[in-house]
Amino acid sequence: MITHEEFASLLLIGTPSTYSPPTAIPPEHSSRLIALGYLADIQGKLRMTTPGRKRLAAGIQPSDQWIEKLRCSSCTNTGTVSLSQSGGDETPKVLSISDGFKVVQTEYGPDFHCNACNLPALS
Ligand SMILES: [Zn+2]
Repeated sequence: MITHEEFASLLLIGTPSTYSPPTAIPPEHSSRLIALGYLADIQGKLRMTTPGRKRLAAGIQPSDQWIEKLRCSSCTNTGTVSLSQSGGDETPKVLSISDGFKVVQTEYGPDFHCNACNLPALS
């Protein structure tokens, strides 16, 4: 997960200007981006990592998307669900889900149940 503000900070590190003083980004952004593996703190200087460059190349997206594997806790049903969450969203949105599973909305966000057993899927 990366917010637009954090992406902007990544962009700052990724495109240093010869004419401006050393790039400074908010410490909460640098610690987040380092934790995500997009930046590395090398002797006190922030450097772009290869995943960071890839993330930068992917551009500013309206949301981040990822896929979770689903496995029924009772039968052998397996599948995947693709989710997205943008910076402002409290909980992820379900983009698509495999046949055999269904989305159950909870106060903590979407949960996934096996259709046949009506039991929560393990992710
Ligand atoms: Zn099942």
